[in-house]
Amino acid sequence: MHKLLVATRSPGKKAEIRQILRELPYEIVFPEDVGLYERPEEMTLENADTFEANARAKAEYFQRLSRLPTVADDSGIEALSLGGQPGVRSRRFAMAGPGDDVDEANNRLLLQKLAGAPHDRRGAQYRCVAVFMKDMSIIPHVFEGRCSGHITTEPRGTGGFGYDPLFHSVDLDKTFGEATPEEKAKVSHRGKAFRAFAEWLIANPP
Ligand code: IMP
Repeated sequence: MHKLLVATRSPGKKAEIRQILRELPYEIVFPEDVGLYERPEEMTLENADTFEANARAKAEYFQRLSRLPTVADDSGIEALSLGGQPGVRSRRFAMAGPGDDVDEANNRLLLQKLAGAPHDRRGAQYRCVAVFMKDMSIIPHVFEGRCSGHITTEPRGTGGFGYDPLFHSVDLDKTFGEATPEEKAKVSHRGKAFRAFAEWLIANPP
């Protein structure tokens, strides 16, 4: 079976993407599976202003090193009354230092920024952009997924990762922290982007 490199080091994303792509006739591998361990230069791959540019930088970097067909995603949460913040800076929102609980620090800051905001000022969406690069000679293909909801006033549930306990999904009428992985994948930004990618890949095999 051909290998497909999913260029992420996030345990939360790995689990979700593996499940979403489980029916693809490819062997899903992550960077460590093909001997690509984290290097300091990876920190500079997510410095652009858009999800697409960041995902593309990651896909190009890992495709060049692995020579495998590679898909990378960049994702984040946009709070509407914060002008779309934290957006592409979702992971670095609270600027947590080494040894800190990054998700916990980010969630605390988001709640702080929305403190006192009524329900109609707590709207939010998750976005995920996945970029596929078969090889360097071909224009990358881009797939996007979004889902809507609002930011709760306190964390609910322990499922998912990142901002999930604070994201009340319109589709599920509960937070992603309270949802099962299957429920989340059905409606999530990542589920939509990667299912679109999977359909495209089946129709356009490398
Ligand atoms: P990335 O690795 O640069 O794409 O950063 C993604 C960041 O956005 C994560 O660290 C989370 O903070 C947030 N994020 C993206 N997707 C999700 C999700 O599905 N659940 C929770 N947080 C997410």
